[in-house]
Amino acid sequence: MINMILDYNTKYFESRLKGRYITLEHIKPLLDQYKSNFEIHNLGFSVRGLDIPYLKVGTGAYKILAWSQMHGNESTTTKAIFDLLSYLKNGPKTDTAPILEACTLLIIPILNPDGAKDYERLNANKVDLNRDAKTLSQPESKLLHDIFNGFKPDLCLNLHGQRTIFGLSGSLKPATLSFLAPAADVEKSLTPSRNIAMALILSMNEMLQKLIPNQIGRYDDTFNPNCVGDAFQKLGAATILFEAGHFHEDYDREKIRAYVFYAYIHLLNLVSQPFNIKNTHKSYFLIPENTKNFCDIQIINARLDKDSEILTISIQFSETLIAEKIVFIPKIHEIGNSCLNAHKTIDAQGLICNNINGKAVKIEQTIEKIRVGDKVFDLLL
Ligand SMILES: [Zn+2]
Repeated sequence: MINMILDYNTKYFESRLKGRYITLEHIKPLLDQYKSNFEIHNLGFSVRGLDIPYLKVGTGAYKILAWSQMHGNESTTTKAIFDLLSYLKNGPKTDTAPILEACTLLIIPILNPDGAKDYERLNANKVDLNRDAKTLSQPESKLLHDIFNGFKPDLCLNLHGQRTIFGLSGSLKPATLSFLAPAADVEKSLTPSRNIAMALILSMNEMLQKLIPNQIGRYDDTFNPNCVGDAFQKLGAATILFEAGHFHEDYDREKIRAYVFYAYIHLLNLVSQPFNIKNTHKSYFLIPENTKNFCDIQIINARLDKDSEILTISIQFSETLIAEKIVFIPKIHEIGNSCLNAHKTIDAQGLICNNINGKAVKIEQTIEKIRVGDKVFDLLL
């Protein structure tokens, strides 16, 4: 594991995929190149008729189904999948052979290629595919359901990305990577598959805590049968939700992808050997819960005019696709007394804060620069 981490940047990092905008067009040449190493098939077509390719990797008895970019704008786990493929192809055989002999992985890198193209969470019919597991109203949902039924996986990896607003209860750090062992019923019973998912999460958490201490979160486990993870857990496959989040100043999510990659390898090593599932649920629930307690930038001790009380101006970036790139546009999210955690803080020291034209700042306003007293701060990344 240590050598793998040391070698990551030079040997396994897939440099052809970078930044937040990852589409079918970006991954197709890579898949073409992997044709001689792994089986590659087409699962079917999206609403707009784009291919949904998947890879079959390994020949082992333990079956893993992984899908990423079910939400089209959540690309970090996809980048980490290609780092994983690079490792499985180029890593030392003494390390990779036991994984490939023990496991068969079916990997869908982009389940929602239309959403990926538009940099949208939803599919082309504006449906959230992670709220369509029961209804199966969309072609992408049906295809995932069909491959699940045909393959009968032991383990499912539901791979997502979370917004920068997520932190952890009782912590000043962002939720860099969060997990969930979804419930299989409204009672949130500790079913056998859920227990396996919890044990695997705990082991990944233990490994990651050494690398990014206090930045691992646990998602709320309220049962929703229309969420894919809950539905598959209910069907008896151990299912784990991954949510790749924010790491300090890493808006392109190039650092966090490495931690997702390490988590994948750790998980594959675990399931490639016989593993004991002890009664782990108590420790699992000690992982701090995810909470919305962050904004991107906050301006503290601000006044709106000379008579105003001291306020906090919270700014969120809106992620906008412009000319094939994601641009982070700062917008005023809130002006008030509450003080969140922020990825960047500017102390106005009681001075008046205006927009660049000297006008009052307003909620929802796009604000690339802010005037604090007679100083101007650039809010763009
Ligand atoms: Zn998602």
